[in-house]
Amino acid sequence: MLMKRNGAVIPLTNGREELDVLEHAAAIDTPMRADAFALSPEEKIQRIERHFRGIMETLGMDLADDSLQGTPKRVAKMYVNEVFNGLDPENRPAPTLFANKFGYKGMLVERDITVHSFCEHHFVPIIGRATVAYFSSGQVIGLSKLDRIVKYYAARPQVQERLTEQIAAELKRVLQTEDVAVVIDAEHMCVKLRGVKDECSSTLTAHYSGRFEEAEVRTEFLSYMKK
Ligand SMILES: [Zn+2]
Repeated sequence: MLMKRNGAVIPLTNGREELDVLEHAAAIDTPMRADAFALSPEEKIQRIERHFRGIMETLGMDLADDSLQGTPKRVAKMYVNEVFNGLDPENRPAPTLFANKFGYKGMLVERDITVHSFCEHHFVPIIGRATVAYFSSGQVIGLSKLDRIVKYYAARPQVQERLTEQIAAELKRVLQTEDVAVVIDAEHMCVKLRGVKDECSSTLTAHYSGRFEEAEVRTEFLSYMKK
């Protein structure tokens, strides 16, 4: 099996599926090496455990202590199996689509989807909410799938701008429409805990395309976002 990326054809050693996002939209790719999946998840956990032990030892911590002993393994499992499992295309949610039998013509808005991600510059959490919306092009999607798409792209080291674009691109691909909107409002722990130590700021990013570029449609969408 082959993966095309930035024009180059790269053999995939373990038969993983191609990532359409990688193929068609290089600018919003999560930067990944061609050998990203040469190691199994179990091998990655073992390797990260070793590296994290090294970090803690370098900080001078006593890894023989009961409370610290299991930390390198716990962090490694958390990275691979939970908070970064959206790096693996095998975990991309398979969309469940239904015919739009009821002839619903309005916009569908899914509000306040929890976003748990990690800033790729500091590896600390980004915590916020996403609101996504679309107009049906003949098919509708299971509502929980909208949540799953957001959570899949959030489960990577991210920047909020790229996360917004990746979610929008996937919604367009799955729903076969340009009429999508994505708004994310999130707090970045790297801004709160370090540097400027701003406790109160949050970051808003938005993607509007198709009918959402029309002023009237956008105003309607924004009115639904108000509580
Ligand atoms: Zn950061």
